[in-house]
Amino acid sequence: MRISEILKPLKEMMPLTDFMKRTDNAPNILSETSLIDKRGDNGKSNDEINSRLRLTNKLLAYNISKFETVIDNLNDGIIIIDSSSRILAINHIMEQLLGLNRGEIKDKHISECACNNEIFTFILEHYESIDKLVEKTADINVGSSNLRVSYKTLIRGDGNACGSLLIARDITSQKLAEQAKVEFLSHVSHELKSPINTIKGYTEMIMKGEIDNKETLMEFANTVNEEADRLASLINNLLNLTKIERGSLSLSKSMTRTKEFIENIFKTATSQKKKPMNYELIIPDKVPPMNIDKEFMGIVLINLIGNATKYTPEQGRITVRVEETGDKIMIHIIDTGIGISDEEIPHIFEKFYRSADEQVRKQTGHGLGLAIAKQIVELHDGEIKVISKRGEGSQFTIVLPIEERYFLE
Ligand code: ADP
Repeated sequence: MRISEILKPLKEMMPLTDFMKRTDNAPNILSETSLIDKRGDNGKSNDEINSRLRLTNKLLAYNISKFETVIDNLNDGIIIIDSSSRILAINHIMEQLLGLNRGEIKDKHISECACNNEIFTFILEHYESIDKLVEKTADINVGSSNLRVSYKTLIRGDGNACGSLLIARDITSQKLAEQAKVEFLSHVSHELKSPINTIKGYTEMIMKGEIDNKETLMEFANTVNEEADRLASLINNLLNLTKIERGSLSLSKSMTRTKEFIENIFKTATSQKKKPMNYELIIPDKVPPMNIDKEFMGIVLINLIGNATKYTPEQGRITVRVEETGDKIMIHIIDTGIGISDEEIPHIFEKFYRSADEQVRKQTGHGLGLAIAKQIVELHDGEIKVISKRGEGSQFTIVLPIEERYFLE
């Protein structure tokens, strides 16, 4: 909401509040009738004046309540100080930020309010300069929240200052996002740098003619090739993640035969034969179809089966089991590998998170696979769960809704 919208009801109210102030803070305009009585009012009858004042009173009450409702429903903290440095209005959020109750401070002079909160100190630093045009913004930390506070002199239509306004906006999530962006860029640069350095080092040695036997040359060429694959996979993951986070990934979902789809993915994921493993697929003959984007759900499954393979020692067992429960399809990827500790489980879906465990570090990876998998599954209105025990193995489960209870022939 724009400041001008917030101030509109306040501006409407200003002449009335000035009027009230001139009457020695009289709480009710009706008390003015006696004065008007004595002066006479262009021959108008008392009844007429009384009814006009009653109407004005109602309008004033209506405007105040409308104005208070508006500012209480804002997501920012607001405090308004009038031209004689008294607190004219304060909303709920600002009450909480200052730890003050509006009943205690409303209409009080700013210097009479006992508050040693940093926002209040900021107000005290500026309220005396009411005659000058002040527009100040500062970032202040209150507890664990980062606040951006803006103090502004309010200028009436005739060009005179009529008070000041302080708005406090919680920018904690904005700050965290900025910090995450910096961390993300530093991670990406680091992840890009290490394969590039390896590729450069190895090719330089080859070019200088330092390698004189064919076997070592092949070994070097292999390393360069693997590092190039690593780079390509990182770039692919980053592109997918950016698309998902920008909201520009449009899934092209279609009703898919579950059994056929899983069997194909299982075949692709297990045919790479990186190490000797016991793979097993358990899937009922009749499973309802899934409404999925085959390409992206394929990325998720290949990633989970790939992780199971990476983090399970040779001759371990990897089982993919599909089951239908109520209105859900569950795809379990179970391994007998190194497992994940209880402390690590809450972090494994974070971008770039990799366990510090030596058995994890010796495997290639960037810590992006599970972050992408989670987001893709959630875009399918599903969820991804994990149960794991250190040293015993892990079970990742994709839960997807069944949209149509029929079987594709
Ligand atoms: P990457 O495998 O590239 O490191 P992921 O995002 O796929 O990244 O996984 C994040 C982390 O979760 C891994 O580094 C590892 O610590 C842990 N992890 C994932 N899958 C398994 C698994 N099946 N067994 C043990 N640890 C796993």
